Amino acid sequence: MIRNHFRIMKVDLSTGKTNIIELPGREQFLGGTGLAAMLFAEYGHMDRDWDDPDQPLIFAIGPLTGYYPLMSKTCCSFRSPYHNQYAESYAGGKSALSLRFADLDALVVVGKAPRLTALCVGSRRVETRDVEYMRGFDALQTGRVIRKLFPGSGRRSILRIGPAGENLSAYACINVDTYRHFGRLGGGTVMGSKNLKAICILGDRGFALPEGKAYPTLYKEIFKQLTTTEMMSKYHGLGTAVNINPLNELKSLPWKNLQQTSSPEADNISGETFAKDTLLRNAACAGCPVGCIHVGFVREQFQANNQYLYRQVGYDYEPIFSCGGMLEVTDAGQVLRILDTIEKEGLDNMSAGVALAWATEALDKGVISEEQTVVRLAWGDAESYMKGVELISRPPNEFYRLLGQGTLKCAAKFGGEDFACVLGQEMAGYATGEVFFVSEALGFRHAHLDAGGYSYDQKHEDKDVEKALNFLVDDARDRVVLNCMVGCLFSRGVYTADVLAQALDAVGYGNLNASLDAVGKEVQRARWRLRLGMGYDPARVKIPKRYSEVTTWKGPIDTDYMEALRSGYAARIMEMGAPLADEE
Ligand code: SF4
Repeated sequence: MIRNHFRIMKVDLSTGKTNIIELPGREQFLGGTGLAAMLFAEYGHMDRDWDDPDQPLIFAIGPLTGYYPLMSKTCCSFRSPYHNQYAESYAGGKSALSLRFADLDALVVVGKAPRLTALCVGSRRVETRDVEYMRGFDALQTGRVIRKLFPGSGRRSILRIGPAGENLSAYACINVDTYRHFGRLGGGTVMGSKNLKAICILGDRGFALPEGKAYPTLYKEIFKQLTTTEMMSKYHGLGTAVNINPLNELKSLPWKNLQQTSSPEADNISGETFAKDTLLRNAACAGCPVGCIHVGFVREQFQANNQYLYRQVGYDYEPIFSCGGMLEVTDAGQVLRILDTIEKEGLDNMSAGVALAWATEALDKGVISEEQTVVRLAWGDAESYMKGVELISRPPNEFYRLLGQGTLKCAAKFGGEDFACVLGQEMAGYATGEVFFVSEALGFRHAHLDAGGYSYDQKHEDKDVEKALNFLVDDARDRVVLNCMVGCLFSRGVYTADVLAQALDAVGYGNLNASLDAVGKEVQRARWRLRLGMGYDPARVKIPKRYSEVTTWKGPIDTDYMEALRSGYAARIMEMGAPLADEE
């Protein structure tokens, strides 16, 4: 059943009160990232810090969720503990479909529970349980217990945090079902600050599909595009891990804390090697016929009884880059063991790997000592990195407490800012060149998925600043529209503007089509207004020296070009977030 208002559930953990609220705004904000920004403007506080109990934690889906394949993501928004500004993260699993089946466009959680709590929501159900006994439980253990606490059908999604979230590491993630995460910028930390160990979303209602021929016809066509054309085959085959070898050949693979952009060892952790040596199976988010999630296995031997057990660990390109190449761990099984530890602790794997890479170089250079690192962090030594992950998650000293707040915060105290691989947050795995470095450093989410700067670098040798900036702004806006729906960004080649318009029309939202362009601009503006209003000044963003020392396929980085892009993009962001005339 489509509706033109949003149906929101707001749960207050401090008072125990829950409201179902119906809000207008579909034509202006569509859903997903637009709805999340709208809700933060409504319930968030520009003048209070991220950990104020009244700050909301928001989960929002879009108008096409549940109707079409790969419309399978949820947008999670919050004021981030990483930079104390508005932030977003996306995850799939069963989260989006469960919200759809619970008849909710969004869940908003405010307040702080007096004790560690698990929350269960359905279409007309809200339940909290005291789970203080679960304090310190890792994320996998927590998932198992929550599934028993709140039994349900397949339309049930389990979101939870590990020790890193409880201990307020600024890049604690929210683990979603199996192998999915709201990874970046500390959504798990916000849950920890609210004493919220887990959320179970029960999709306890059905929803009717549109009548008539238009919808099934279009559904079949989209399904065919997704499953039988070249566009998506790489995601199912070797998965995104297939990027390791080509990026290595292009001299664009960050390696050893970006001291190198390629290595003769890269093939040992390539998608091909992971598939040959570790792959057990593929998995998929609910409603996705592609199944890009690759699950490898790790064998463990128990010394006590000489028995073997295997553990299943999800992998794709980004975690292999951050916990393989960046740490020079060149054995696929060892990379999986580090990822398994990160999964249990509940940290963002990109931030954790990149932070440990910086710490290793800092130790090598004598900037810090083993007194700080406790364990001898050493390139290629997976055991030391597994221990390092636990130390970030459960910090025993000031060094790890700061490292868990972000590499640059730690470097500000101990030194080594020049070689911190931080572009707004610990970098994503693309040393492709100036456009990507600027795009991630200044971009809204500081994510490689904000805009395709990594792809632009690979296709353009020219250094036309205006052309590159136009690309970043326009591409980010197109992605904003898909993030309103909230579609998996891997499907953006299939869900063109035309297909999205047909898709909306076929489910009864044809009235939204006339305003899609305007929505892209309005949501882009609304999101920047939130960030700028919380103190973000893009003109003051610095790109660490390490990025000017990099050599890519185009040769050494051109620092003049990078600086022109940096200042130009900062000006464009200020324009995008400028108030409208009637708001001044
Ligand atoms: S392609 Fe991968 S991430 Fe995207 S919806 Fe499918 S399984 Fe999830």
